[in-house]
Amino acid sequence: MDRVVIIGGGPGGYEAAHVAAQLGAEVTVVDTDGVGGSAVLTDCVPSKTLIATAELMTEVSESAELGIDFADHEGDAATTIKVDLGKVNARVKQLAADQSSDIAARLDRDGVRVVRGRGRLAAGMTVVATLPDGSEETLEADAILVATGAAPRTLESAQPDGERILTWEQVYDLDEVPDKLIVVGSGVTGAEFASAYLALGIPVTLVSSRDRVLPGEDADASAVLEEVATRRGMEVLSQSRMQSVTREGDTVTVTLTDGRTVTGSHCILALGSVPNTADLGLEDAGVATDDAGFITVDRVSRTSARGVYAAGDCTGILMLASVAAMQGRIAMWHFLGDAVSPLDLKKVSSNVFTSPEIATVGWSQKAVEEGEIRAEVVTLPLAGNARAKMQGVRDGFVKLFIRPGTGIIVGGVVVGPRASELIHPVSIAVAESLTADQLAQAFTVYPSMSGSIAEAARRLHRV
Ligand SMILES: Cc1cc2nc3c(=O)[nH]c(=O)nc-3n(C[C@H](O)[C@H](O)[C@H](O)COP(=O)(O)OP(=O)(O)OC[C@H]3O[C@@H](n4cnc5c(N)ncnc54)[C@H](O)[C@@H]3O)c2cc1C
Repeated sequence: MDRVVIIGGGPGGYEAAHVAAQLGAEVTVVDTDGVGGSAVLTDCVPSKTLIATAELMTEVSESAELGIDFADHEGDAATTIKVDLGKVNARVKQLAADQSSDIAARLDRDGVRVVRGRGRLAAGMTVVATLPDGSEETLEADAILVATGAAPRTLESAQPDGERILTWEQVYDLDEVPDKLIVVGSGVTGAEFASAYLALGIPVTLVSSRDRVLPGEDADASAVLEEVATRRGMEVLSQSRMQSVTREGDTVTVTLTDGRTVTGSHCILALGSVPNTADLGLEDAGVATDDAGFITVDRVSRTSARGVYAAGDCTGILMLASVAAMQGRIAMWHFLGDAVSPLDLKKVSSNVFTSPEIATVGWSQKAVEEGEIRAEVVTLPLAGNARAKMQGVRDGFVKLFIRPGTGIIVGGVVVGPRASELIHPVSIAVAESLTADQLAQAFTVYPSMSGSIAEAARRLHRV
């Protein structure tokens, strides 16, 4: 029986474990923190649980237009509802712990052995696990998967203290609502936290070193987000590079490189991630890494060392739970001889869970503008959609990219409430190379937001 040893129990690791067990291998997962990884315990699941509360707050605070009257209070509903952050965070932590237990139970049902400890590669295709009591266990393997994830990047001049200067892993220990929050970093993580805490009624300043928020996303989409966020009261400081973050008593000061300072009661650092690849024995095992420490892999998750695969954030390919899981599955399909398609990043759909959400799949407008691909583009504002009008939704759009000539859909962007759900038909079209006409042919419910996707496809009809 093939023996597979997996280091790291996040989505890259545990999804691979399921596949390997299904294909008849003897599987051991070595994990330090509890299965589910950062995805379940500190990153993806907790942040989206927090955002679920934020979404409800946004809906309630904007419900006056729909005839909701908070009878005992005067003025804007937003000023009359408030969040119990202690309760929210307790729910977040419980939900994450429960999710981790569910994953552990499923692994157990599949016959996967989970070893609590820190793993490292050792000579002769073995993994040595250092257990919590300090003892070591050596695990022999026919294949090894490294899926150790990544951790928040911090700077010497901006050290988290866990109380007021926080990484995204530490925010769930807050039980009092911050008076004023500064979020440093306007990538996906920074934008999501800034948007969520603003919705929870907290004054937020977003410090962005770039000229717009979400510099990696569709420019029209980030423009909508910035417009909505500032309309709701967020202060966005663009082209403002943080130099240091310091704390004195209850006050946190962010000093910018041009000398300006921003003060608040709390600061979240969202400065990107560093891979958990130090002290793993990679070099001795012949596993190549790049300058930033990310493990180099090919499209079937092979590293430079025979029999050693890597998946997820430690490879830095596209730091998403869904991609980590797919890389892990692909590694096992490849090693155990099952049918396998190499990872295709042009089929990955992803979402920024801000308000409004921004979902994308396939080729981007930037790639079209830079001549990487030829495509026609149509953009349809959601404001004209009947369902959107009923729900009081004005911000957002649907954008589709098609190949000229064939009409095949090669990408799309949806900005709006629940864009993460709305992107799926576009994602299927991209994965299956459907044409705009084929997408337009399928019935959509009337009235529905998805009607705008079909309408955008109809506008791309060519005679
Ligand atoms: C705030 C935030 C929100 C996010 N939201 C989303 C989202 O909505 N959707 C999405 O798709 N992605 C999201 N992501 C990204 C997602 O969390 C990661 O892409 C995903 O966690 C990667 O999975 P992984 O298996 O590579 O690593 P991880 O989930 O980090 O798991 C790796 C595990 O390995 C353990 N480990 C490390 N070293 C060792 C060792 N030597 N021995 C044993 N165990 C070890 C770690 O402790 C960890 O438990 C988010 C990220 C952040 C920061």
